[in-house]
Amino acid sequence: MSTAALPIPVDVPSGLVEAVRSFPSEKIVAHCGKRWSVSPFDVYSDCPQCGARVKLRSFTGGAEIEDVFDALFEWMNQPGVDELVRQRREAIAKDAD
Ligand SMILES: [Zn+2]
Repeated sequence: MSTAALPIPVDVPSGLVEAVRSFPSEKIVAHCGKRWSVSPFDVYSDCPQCGARVKLRSFTGGAEIEDVFDALFEWMNQPGVDELVRQRREAIAKDAD
């Protein structure tokens, strides 16, 4: 867990928070006239029809919303933050009641 550093000041674009909040929990992939569902974070998926590997994320140019999630997941992978995440998720779940 990093402790000493201050947060990097950043302008959070309007819409980002809502975009994260409403992010779908599945992604529909289409190939060969077939459509199937994958995790929205999958980088590749194999077409069930022809077996082709379909690339699902671009990794070029500007950051995509998936990169925001990846940064959050990376943050959550730090040792010692599990309890912080658990507490905050619990508080948010209570607020939603
Ligand atoms: Zn295919």
